[in-house]
Amino acid sequence: MTATIIDGKAFAARVRAQVAEHVARLREEQGITPGLAVVLVGEDPASTVYVRNKGKQTVEVGMNSYEHKLPAETSEAELLALIARLNADPAVHGILVQLPLPGHLNSDLVINAIDPAKDVDGFHISNVGLLGTGQKAMVPCTPLGCLMMLRDHHGSLSGLNAVVVGRSNIVGKPMAQLLLAESCTITVAHSRTRNLPEVVRRADIVVAAVGRPEMVKADWIKPGATVIDVGINRVPGAVEGKTRLVGDVAYEDVRHVAGAITPVPGGVGPMTIAVLLRNALVAAYRHAGLELAPDAI
Ligand code: NAP
Repeated sequence: MTATIIDGKAFAARVRAQVAEHVARLREEQGITPGLAVVLVGEDPASTVYVRNKGKQTVEVGMNSYEHKLPAETSEAELLALIARLNADPAVHGILVQLPLPGHLNSDLVINAIDPAKDVDGFHISNVGLLGTGQKAMVPCTPLGCLMMLRDHHGSLSGLNAVVVGRSNIVGKPMAQLLLAESCTITVAHSRTRNLPEVVRRADIVVAAVGRPEMVKADWIKPGATVIDVGINRVPGAVEGKTRLVGDVAYEDVRHVAGAITPVPGGVGPMTIAVLLRNALVAAYRHAGLELAPDAI
């Protein structure tokens, strides 16, 4: 068997096109241009690239992008003051604070200072609680992107066994909540899970969000299962001094066992920013007292 490749790059392009259409409609019908503010503290190279890409794609879908680049030594009080200004700014519908923050800043405190209605990352404790209780929430971008690809591939997910490997607040836990809401039977595995290969072998759907290069092997996968690889790991490349990206799944082997699989790069990664833009659009709609139709994007 050779797996269907779930093309996250093409899917993300479709999502961005749909977002752009709705942005144009919102401007035309309501006179509102959604605005997304991204706050970067310090100069972490990977974060700098992410923020640049987010800003570029925000503008491409017709939204206003507000970038706030602060020095690494910014104090908590200064950062909280900026968030308070963005919370009060009617032109800003979405706020994202790029993580990780420098060590002297308390991420929980900073994230929980964002107005939950503008929390496009869905990390505010109110949104976490709303998601967990099945209420209208801002949903974290990476797991929502995974869910959109799974729904697109399977249609109904009801009754399927899903194993999420990883229990982080930004991927594993919200992914499990989303799959539970789809009536999957969920197992959340982590570093203390016993017999992980055996646990994963029970899954119709495997979501790997671990951060360990190619950890999930072909003989862990039930033939025909769908495998979503969230991992982004940089490993030495074939040419000395060069690196390449791999996921948490041993893609070349697993694709001969799985029914469907996301590649790395070109799977989950591109979906994350596309869903961020979707969330900013949802926030702008709600700010105007409107609701984006559930099947709109
Ligand atoms: P994280 O916070 O480091 O969490 C990793 C999780 O994996 C933890 O729950 C950990 O268990 C578990 N784990 C570690 N070693 C394990 C093992 N040997 N067996 C089973 N479980 C193990 O990472 P994260 O933020 O969730 O990110 C995970 C990966 O996704 C990373 O590669 C990251 O770069 C990537 N990522 C990609 C995107 C995207 O847009 N594509 C977005 C976010 C993250 P414990 O809790 O027991 O320690």
